[in-house]
Amino acid sequence: MELLKERIRKDGKIKGTDVLKVDSFLNHQMDVALFAEIGKEFKRRFADCQVDKILTIEASGIGIACIAAQYFHCPVIFAKKNQTKNIAGEVYTSQVESFTHGRIYNIIVAKEFLRPGDKVLLIDDFLANGAALEGLAKLVRDAGAELVGAGIVIEKAFQPGGERLRAEGLRIESLARVKSMSEETGVEFAD
Ligand code: 5GP
Repeated sequence: MELLKERIRKDGKIKGTDVLKVDSFLNHQMDVALFAEIGKEFKRRFADCQVDKILTIEASGIGIACIAAQYFHCPVIFAKKNQTKNIAGEVYTSQVESFTHGRIYNIIVAKEFLRPGDKVLLIDDFLANGAALEGLAKLVRDAGAELVGAGIVIEKAFQPGGERLRAEGLRIESLARVKSMSEETGVEFAD
């Protein structure tokens, strides 16, 4: 998606070797007009699929998922991050290792919102090692729902998540795939 790539080139800030900060339009301040274009592009790419629900993870995925849902005409569920180990009640849960913070946390979704047979599209802002998507995919499997695929805004293709999850059969549509990046030379895209 050329508009997104241009924006990353212009406003993305590279930290160290593997973190891309996009706080000015995606992760802190949000460019809603750009989100609308992102939502339309997800809809175009998954036009062949029935999508009953979009599932994302708090916090950064929520805004993107909500705007995208307006084009899919479906509800959004966001998996909540939960600090406590013992989670009682009617929830599906899985563990995710945070890429940006390095720690492990639980994510939960209430069983009443994720039903057997639901056709679920995952949406997230970044794909790096794939832990967040894997955690979300497990919630979908545990619910007996059907995983349609995953829509990712920025995939860091030099990290292993995308390749591994595609090899496992997950359909992933990434709107910008970063092949390499460095503070000196900037961002290079894969396609
Ligand atoms: P993964 O679980 O695939 O390793 O990482 C994906 C999650 O980590 C995303 O939900 C995103 O919030 C965060 N993340 C991973 N890499 C980056 C990055 O380079 N920049 C930002 N802003 N977030 C990232």
